[in-house]
Amino acid sequence: MDHRRNTWWAKLRRTLTSWLPVAPGRIGSCQSCGLCCELPNPCPFLRFRPDGRSFCAIYHWRPLNCRKYPRSPAEHITQPECGFRFE
Ligand code: SF4
Repeated sequence: MDHRRNTWWAKLRRTLTSWLPVAPGRIGSCQSCGLCCELPNPCPFLRFRPDGRSFCAIYHWRPLNCRKYPRSPAEHITQPECGFRFE
C-alpha cells in the first residue's frame, strides 16, 4: 500500500471519476483483503469473516467507486496486496 497517496483528496478524486469506465488492461480479481475499504479510513460497512477475508455489509448498494476499484492505474494505491493489476 502506498500510504503517501492514501489521502482524502485521492478518495474525492476516485469518487468524482467513478462514473468513468475501468481503464483497459486490468487483470486479476479481488482477494477480499479489505484494504481498499480502508481508504483513507476504515469504512463503517467493512466486515471480516473468521478466516480474515473481508466483505461489505451493503455489498449490493455499495458506491460506484467501491464497485470499480481499482478503476485506473493512477488510482490503484493498494499494491502489491491487491489481487488486481494493470498490464
Ligand atoms: S484492495 Fe484489491 S484485493 Fe483487496 S479488497 Fe480491494 S479490490 Fe479486493
